[in-house]
Amino acid sequence: MSSIFSKIIAGEIPCYKIYEDDKTFAFLDINPEVKGHTLVVPKVEVDKIYDLDDEDYQALMATVKKLAKHMEEVMGQRTLIKVVGTDVPHAHVHLTPLDENWEYGKTLKLAEAEMQEITDKLAL
Ligand code: AMP
Repeated sequence: MSSIFSKIIAGEIPCYKIYEDDKTFAFLDINPEVKGHTLVVPKVEVDKIYDLDDEDYQALMATVKKLAKHMEEVMGQRTLIKVVGTDVPHAHVHLTPLDENWEYGKTLKLAEAEMQEITDKLAL
């Protein structure tokens, strides 16, 4: 069975899309720790980031770098980069602006309009 992230990539489940290329996909986390919390995902479905072959790993990290820099420019704050992977068994990297309200594990409830507004700001 496909992972929830493969279903998002395939367009079977909606998301707030930020970026896509041939090997990677990025969208807003549905339980954001801060406004702009984004997940960067390889299109190939593997559980752990270190299960990726070198080419897909490098493609993922190239997108992480590109989006982290772009996020810093747009949000005006340093971008945090984190890998956890305990909830969804499809490799992914979390990007979060280092907002003054950021607290590890604390999440916000944002309205759809706010999620869309931040998507429009960050989409690349
Ligand atoms: P982790 O596996 O612990 O790195 O976290 C997985 C992340 O995926 C969590 O922060 C969830 O909020 C996020 N997540 C799970 N389902 C969705 C979804 N349908 N759309 C966006 N983010 C999701």
